[in-house]
Amino acid sequence: MVSRRRFLVGTVALAGSLARAPRARAQRARTRLILLGTGGGPRPRKESSGAAQVIVADGAAYVIDCGDGVARQLAFAGVPLTSLRHIFLTHQHSDHNADYGNLIWLAWASGLSSRVDAWGPPPLDEMTTLFLQMNAYDISTRISNEGRVPLAPLVHVHELREGGEVMRDERLRVTAALVDHPPVVPAFGYRFDAADRSIVISGDTTPSERLIELAKGADVLVHSALYVPAVDRLVARVPNAPALKASIIAHQTSAEDAGRVAQAAGVRTLVLSHLVPADDPKVTAKMWIDAARTQFRGNVIVGKDLLEI
Ligand SMILES: [Zn+2]
Repeated sequence: MVSRRRFLVGTVALAGSLARAPRARAQRARTRLILLGTGGGPRPRKESSGAAQVIVADGAAYVIDCGDGVARQLAFAGVPLTSLRHIFLTHQHSDHNADYGNLIWLAWASGLSSRVDAWGPPPLDEMTTLFLQMNAYDISTRISNEGRVPLAPLVHVHELREGGEVMRDERLRVTAALVDHPPVVPAFGYRFDAADRSIVISGDTTPSERLIELAKGADVLVHSALYVPAVDRLVARVPNAPALKASIIAHQTSAEDAGRVAQAAGVRTLVLSHLVPADDPKVTAKMWIDAARTQFRGNVIVGKDLLEI
C-alpha cells in the first residue's frame, strides 16, 4: 500500500514537472522560428510546401517569403493568421511570392483587422495594388456582408532597393543585405535580432560575402541549399535540361558552400532549407548534413516543413 502511494505521488510529481516544462521553455525562447515551406522551386509537391518561414515574437508573426501554401502552413503550425504583422519577401520569384497576396487576403478573411507591413523588392507596390484590384469583388462583398474593415488601408508596402536596416520595433530589429541571385535583382537576405536570439534567412543566393557579413555571430542561419550530385536526376525530367541545370548551379549555393558560409559567419546552427532537389528520395537527410559538415563545425539541421527551431 505504501509503495503504491509512493508510486502515485511520484507519478503526480512527474506529471507536474512535465506540465511546467513547456512553459519554462517558452519563457526562455520567446522568439520562435518555424519553417513553413522548405522545398526549392515553384512546382507544387507532396513532400514540401513553397519557401516560407515565420518568426513569432511576443505573439506577432513575421513571415519571410510566401511560397505556395503559406497561409495553410501557418494554420498547420498553429500560428493564427490574425497575428500576421509583417511580411518580408527576399526576391520576386514565384517560389517565394506566389501566395504573397493570398496570405494577406486570407488572413483578413480570417479576421485580421490590424496593420500589416510588407517589405521587399519592387514591384511590390504594384503587385499589392493589382492583387487588391483583382480581388475587389470578394473584398467589397465581405466588407458589406460581413462587416469587415476595408483591407487596403491595413496594408503598408515598403519597397527595398538596398541593404541596411529595414525596420525596428519593440520586438525585433530587421536588417537586409543584397545577395546574388541573378538575374533577379535585387534579392535580399534578412537578419532578425531579438533580445533572446538572432536569426538569418539567406533567400536564394550564390555563396555571398554580404550574407556572411549579415550573419556574423548569429544563432541560426537558414540557408538555401543545393545537392549538386542530384541535379542531373532533377533536370532529366524536363525538356530544357541543360539550360535549367546551368541556371540552377549558377544561382544557388551547394550544401558544402552553405557550410562554408556558416563557418565564415561563425553561426551556431545552420539550417539547410529551400532544398534543391526538394523531393529526391535518394538524397537523404544524412547526405545533406554530411555535405555541409565537410565545411562547418557547428550544428546542422535539414529543414522540414513545420519544424520549429
Ligand atoms: Zn527559390
